[in-house]
Order: sequence, then structure tokens, then C-alpha cells
Amino acid sequence: MIPKAGGLWKASHFIWKTTFIRPQFQPYVRMSSSLIRDKAYINGQWTSAKSGATYNVTNPATGEVVGTVPDMDVRDTVAAIETAYKRFQTFKKTTAKERSEKLKVAYRLILGNIDELARILTLENGKPLAESKGEIMYGASFCEWFAEECRRVQGTIVPSPFPTKKIFTLKQPIGVCGMITPWNFPNAMITRKACAAIAAGCTVVLKPAEDTPLSALALCELFDRAGIPAGVMNVVTCNRGNAPAIGKVLCESPLVSHISFTGSSAVGKILLRQSAETVKKCSMELGGNAPFIVFDSADIEVAVRSAMACKFRCAGQTCVCANRFLVQEGIHDKFVEKLTASIKQDVKIGNGMESGVTQGPLINKRAVDKVDSFVEDARKQGANVHVGGQRSSLGDTFYEPTLLSGVTSDMLVSKEEIFGPVVGIAKFKTEEEAIILANGTSAGLAGYVFTSDASQQWRVAEALEYGIVGLNEGLFSCCEGTFGGFKESGLGREGGIGYGIEEYIEVKYLCMGMK
Ligand code: ADP
Repeated sequence: MIPKAGGLWKASHFIWKTTFIRPQFQPYVRMSSSLIRDKAYINGQWTSAKSGATYNVTNPATGEVVGTVPDMDVRDTVAAIETAYKRFQTFKKTTAKERSEKLKVAYRLILGNIDELARILTLENGKPLAESKGEIMYGASFCEWFAEECRRVQGTIVPSPFPTKKIFTLKQPIGVCGMITPWNFPNAMITRKACAAIAAGCTVVLKPAEDTPLSALALCELFDRAGIPAGVMNVVTCNRGNAPAIGKVLCESPLVSHISFTGSSAVGKILLRQSAETVKKCSMELGGNAPFIVFDSADIEVAVRSAMACKFRCAGQTCVCANRFLVQEGIHDKFVEKLTASIKQDVKIGNGMESGVTQGPLINKRAVDKVDSFVEDARKQGANVHVGGQRSSLGDTFYEPTLLSGVTSDMLVSKEEIFGPVVGIAKFKTEEEAIILANGTSAGLAGYVFTSDASQQWRVAEALEYGIVGLNEGLFSCCEGTFGGFKESGLGREGGIGYGIEEYIEVKYLCMGMK
């Protein structure tokens, strides 16, 4: 059944209001899902690696193997690029209306298969099933949005300064787009890029994260069913070992015109450097270090609810999760007390397939080791642990939801992106101090401000060096909003009116001489 439009908005509160679905734990049965694929998707064909190599995809909650996919390398990627380049020569000539119609069919197919897509997503990523459903709806919204956006991409007729010349701008698809996506949103990070590119008339070679290729391949199956022509969407799967070489060939190939990446700043910088040789247009959604500022006048219930939603989503593993809580001295103790109580009461850790679970595992043991070392560092430097502060007894990939107070700028939990279920709270006195602390990082993706003072809302929102500001709001993501960062958090914007699709468009200036 396709949810009504309003369903999307309910989905934005999917973490704490999970009653609208009734997940049932079903042990994984290999290949039970008709959307699980064990081959990559190139030129509309389910394709093995030329080397024949494969690797297993595992469930981070249980360690069970949930699928096997090709471990492709440079040769497969070159083949995919050549296919995409060839297809681009005809696809660029299709009308926006044709592309729009296909994307709308894909949108309906995604929503029509939401249960299966969500199940696959939870199996490979670990996030609770209700969150996975929310992500599928969010991901599908980009399919619909860009189907609408492409109908309105238009050039201009410019008043000419010469009586003998007419001047125009044309907007044309940029070409083959190389895409590399992360594991924390295995569905939506793909649709947010690929649907924009396809809507614009481009073709795509996408390398999904090694941990979560099954969601990418399931989308290919639905794009195929939607009638999106062979060679428009190509997905090359590989394990971590082959990722750098595949990334390099995507960046360096003269047949690829655009690189779009979501992931860590470190990898983003590598891709930017590699793209310099062919002067590629790049869209980068990189790491964040989001401040979450709570002023004395804030509505504390709203601030606590928002903190829960934006911190514990995907077990704290999103680039817009609050990373540094900055709380004014007058409200500090109460905020610590209420947030601690909410964590104790509302977070249930476990296998994302189980009913009522709100926090799944982290993506792997390495992620848990990192989070634990950050908490240890904070503890050694004098932070107080109010709840959690340790690995969970549930297994290697689980970490207890944690709240630390007395955090300082020198601690790793402040300097680095935590990417885990850890709240680190620092106390501040003045607005000026809060802004200096908030902006004191090379990241600039998302920031949050909680205050009831209208003047302060504007002052602080304007002063923050962040691409996205949540003002008395902890969940802002939607296809209508522009997503992207200032400073080292990235280049370009995804979604939004005009911005998201323009990333995949070249502007051509046409000057016509008149007799
Ligand atoms: P994380 O450490 O959270 O996995 P990354 O930025 O390393 O974040 O990974 C995001 C995506 O980038 C994944 O698809 C991964 O395979 C890919 N990746 C990692 N290293 C490279 C690289 N050197 N070149 C190209 N892609 C890479």
C-alpha cells in the first residue's frame, strides 16, 4: 500500500513514535526477499565481477551473513563508465517529461515495496525497522521531488546589449556522474543524488558503501521495473579493499563529468584531489561536528525531545547528529537531569528487527572501539558520566546510550565527529561565548539552537557558520530543504528548489548573430 502524502511527515518522528508499524522479528532466510540481489547492476544486467570475486554482507546486530555481492575492481568500473557514457549520448536527448514519468513510477514502486526495502536496510545497516521505513519514505521523496523539479529546469533569454546579437542560456545535463555513498543512509543517500542526476538527463555509476550494497541493488531492481533505460543507473559493488582504486578511476576518467560523494571529510579530500586532474565538478557532503545550543530561555521539553531525536537517530551515526551540546549555565543542570531521564526511559537497545528497539548496533566493532576510546578520553580529562559510558553486554557492535557533562573543547568528543550514541555537554555563560564555541571547528554542516527569544533566534542562526540550522527543531531533513555544509563539510547542495538538480547541469551561453 502506498502511504498518503501525510505519511512522510509522520515519518519524521519515526524514532519515538514507532507504533504506526508493527515490526515482527523474523530470522533472516537467505534470498527470501525478491529484492535481494547477489550481482551488481551494469547496463541493465545483473553482473558478476570480472575476477569472479565476491564478499559477504553481514548484519551488524548478529554477525550473520545476509547476502553476497561481487567484489568488483577497476576493470568492472571502467566497463560501467563506458556503458554509462554510451547511454548518456541518447539519454541526454530524452524529454524532461519522459524522465519525470519514469521517476514517478519508481517513486510508487519504492513506496509499494517499503516493507521489503526497510527489512533489507535494517538487515545490513542495523537501524531499527521503524527508522528504516522512515528512511525509505525520505529516499522515495527525492524520486518524486526530482521528477517534479526536472520539468522546470529552464534556460533564459537575456536582454542583449547588441542590436545584432541575441543571447541565451541553455541548461544541459552534465554527463556521466560518478557517485560514492555511505552506509548510514543506504537508500536515501542514493536517491538524493541519483534521482537528481537522472532527472537532469545524466547517467550514473554508483559505488555504494561496502557494508550496505543490498539496498542499492534493490533500488536498481525497482528502477529497472520502472523502465529507466539500461545503462542509466549502474551500480558497482566492492569491498573496502577495492574502494580507493574504484574511487580513483571514477575521479580520473575523462568520460566522467561529475563526482558526488557523501562520507568522511578525509575521503572527500582524496576525491577532490583526484578530480583536479580532469577538473571535475564535485558535490561533497562531508563530516559535521554539529553544535546543539540550549539557551536559558529555551523550552526545555522541546530541547530534550529534539536532542533525543537528533542524537540517537541511527545510533548517533549521521553527519547531522548533534555532536557538541552547549548549554547555558542557568538551564544546564535541569537539561542534564531531564535528558538523562529520557535516555534511561526511552532508549531501548537491541536488534533493529525487534519490536520496540530504538537504538540498533553501530555499523561494526571498529566503530564501537572508536566511540569507547572517545568516552575514555573524556572521562580521563574529567567528564562526568550520568548514564552509559561503556560497551553494551548485547555484543561487540553495541554501545550504551551515554551522557557526559563537564565536557571541554580539548576532548575528542568535542574535536571529532563521535558517530555514536554519546551526548557530551559543555556549560557556557554568554551568547557570544556560545557562538565562538559553536563556530570553532573546520566543519560546518548542521547546527541547532534552542531559545524562546526571537531576537536571539535570528542573531544566533545568522552567526552560525553552518549550512543548516535547526531552530527549536531537531529533525529538519526533507527533499524541499537544501542539504549541505559550509567550510570543510562540503561543496554544493542536495535537494531543495533548484539547488539539488543544478548540481547535475551545465549552463551553456548561446550568442546568436542576427543579420
Ligand atoms: P566510513 O569510514 O564511515 O565508512 P568513508 O568516508 O570512509 O566513511 O566511506 C564512505 C564511502 O567512501 C564508502 O562508500 C567507502 O567505500 C568509500 N571510500 C572509502 N575510502 C575511499 C577512497 N579512498 N576512495 C573512494 N571511496 C572510498
